[in-house]
Amino acid sequence: MTEELAATDAYLRQAQCSAIAHHDEGLELDRTVFYSRGGGQPGDIGKLEWADGSVGVTDTFKKNGVVLHQLGGDPPPVGTELTGTIDWERRHILMRTHTALHVLSAIIFKEFDAKVTGGNMEPGSARMDFELDSISVEFGQQVEQRLNEELAKGHEVNVLFMARSEALQDPDLIRTKVNLIPETVDPIRVIDIGDIDRQADGGTHVANTSEVGAVEVVKTESKGKANKRIKIALID
Ligand SMILES: [Zn+2]
Repeated sequence: MTEELAATDAYLRQAQCSAIAHHDEGLELDRTVFYSRGGGQPGDIGKLEWADGSVGVTDTFKKNGVVLHQLGGDPPPVGTELTGTIDWERRHILMRTHTALHVLSAIIFKEFDAKVTGGNMEPGSARMDFELDSISVEFGQQVEQRLNEELAKGHEVNVLFMARSEALQDPDLIRTKVNLIPETVDPIRVIDIGDIDRQADGGTHVANTSEVGAVEVVKTESKGKANKRIKIALID
């Protein structure tokens, strides 16, 4: 199993590691600073460097539980000591985008009583779908105002590891379907944002909502009955 450093330190940009296996779709490392695609967050890109070479990492994802680093060129031999460096600018934008989505889902749930049905993100923009009966431009403006108010309050974002038995009793985690996480996962990683949001989550987030900056609702649209989409974008 690859040690995934981003799970406990989202701000780590570089780490030493070694190549342990070549797979058809990518290189396996003993430990990695790269976040592997999941939960709507894209995988990291960056580079691997060693004594007499380097190669770009063009995507990071899991296949059959193995973290694979897709490379833009020839892989280093197994056993090579490497320095892995992520594209930090892109990752930090993704952390801001991802954190904004949590606050968005919390506002829609607490103030409009609607759950999330889906979502996806790219660096600097994202969409989220909700079980809302209707949506309008005015609603989008109202949500945008509330979102920026909450982000600016500077809620702390904490990463917790909870025993599975405890997580299965937590009302917020029940709401976000913690029971669907495979039974072998214990403890469960939880992202806690001030007193507004708590969910089981594998992604990377900023440490404080004020770090997200200002966000704009760029589009609202109906994707069918009880399925309404809100698109957001970071302003800078
Ligand atoms: Zn998250």
